[in-house]
Amino acid sequence: MASLSTNWYLRDTAAGRLQLPDYEIDDEGDIYLYYGEVFCRVPECSKANHNYKYTNNLRTHIETHDDVSLSAGNVGGRASQKIIDEAIKFYKRLYGGVEPGTTTTPAPPASSPPSSAISPAATAVYDPVSPSTTGASILPVLPVKKDGTVHVTNMRAAVAKMGHKIPCESCSTRTACCKDINLCDFFIFFDCGDMHPRAAIVEPEEEGETA
Ligand SMILES: [Zn+2]
Ligand SMILES: [Zn+2]
Ligand SMILES: [Zn+2]
Repeated sequence: MASLSTNWYLRDTAAGRLQLPDYEIDDEGDIYLYYGEVFCRVPECSKANHNYKYTNNLRTHIETHDDVSLSAGNVGGRASQKIIDEAIKFYKRLYGGVEPGTTTTPAPPASSPPSSAISPAATAVYDPVSPSTTGASILPVLPVKKDGTVHVTNMRAAVAKMGHKIPCESCSTRTACCKDINLCDFFIFFDCGDMHPRAAIVEPEEEGETA
């Protein structure tokens, strides 16, 4: 299920930057896991940022929470298209319903450039190229200018060096590409530090740094 919002879900949740919604509880009082979920959403779980890699591993972990009951429904096996569609909707909702990189409307990004983003580099270890990689991030660091915003020219050069054609599928023109993390497909190929697409649930700013 290659989907950009899924990739950002993996990266941002592991880095503690994405606050996941609480579980929905069905009529039987059971919680429901979406296809591909690998993070525990039980409130206050100490493992909240741990990537369980497989939903079945996550199920095993969730069973250790006394107060939570899992629906027997979506156990492993082959997922139907409906289950997958439903899951993709869930991941998109994490980003305000907009799949990062697949917006059709031109961005209105002016209000929130990710410029407050010079906190210590996140330790996200998700590597979209070979998801089995564990350990330190091997992604190249996103080229940025002094003000912390993306260095478009250098980013394009790096993207081209990786063998990708500019523009990406989401940016219609070369001029538009590699500019907006909320729109462009290529940001996922970089270690973007604390930059990430706008999440639907805004996390509380904990580090009140004044500069
Ligand atoms: Zn953030
Ligand atoms: Zn948990
Ligand atoms: Zn692009």
